[in-house]
Amino acid sequence: MQPSSSQKPMSVPRQPAGALVLAAGRGKAMRVAAGTLVKLTNPHGTQAVDFWAFNADDPGEYLSTEHIRSVNSTVPVNSGSRLVSWRRRPLASIVEDSSAGDHDTLLCPCNADLYAELGCTGYHRSCADNLHEGLAEIGIEIPFTPASVNLFMSVRAEPDGSLTRLLPASEPGSQVTIRAEMEVILAFSSCPQDVTTINGPDRTPRDCLIVVIDAETAT
Ligand SMILES: [Zn+2]
Repeated sequence: MQPSSSQKPMSVPRQPAGALVLAAGRGKAMRVAAGTLVKLTNPHGTQAVDFWAFNADDPGEYLSTEHIRSVNSTVPVNSGSRLVSWRRRPLASIVEDSSAGDHDTLLCPCNADLYAELGCTGYHRSCADNLHEGLAEIGIEIPFTPASVNLFMSVRAEPDGSLTRLLPASEPGSQVTIRAEMEVILAFSSCPQDVTTINGPDRTPRDCLIVVIDAETAT
């Protein structure tokens, strides 16, 4: 049994075409129509961006990393990967990618418990909180945090079964373009991780840029 939401997202207005800043360590959620392109630019190349998608008619149907790996028969995702829900239906896909690629599907989004484990005292922003904040801004509440697709984040599964968290390998200005394959809610989190080096050796979250391109313009 999958969790579901009692929200009625149909009243959520669509994100207008144009550019916006995904501020360092912050999140953003948006509703977009099928065929919309969302171009995510990483000006420094170092910023990990956690990504989620939900069926706009039923946020209980959301991207599922285990189904993404099964459908694509790959561990990371790249240009051409289908980003599917737990119903194996494509909610989105990666259509262009100038980054180092091999975006992580293995690690969970950071949350308050992780930062407590890392020794942080007091509140520390997290990708999980960014997801829920972003959804709340457009009037959606979900009672769980799905696994994220971790764009620009490099994690390698070693032959002995261990995982290695690599430094980010994308060039400044790298872009990933995502196409909505149905009416969806997309959510992005500029990972606020400043304890480990997942956002680069200087442990500094940075702004990214999102450009929304309407389906009519995209085709
Ligand atoms: Zn994070």
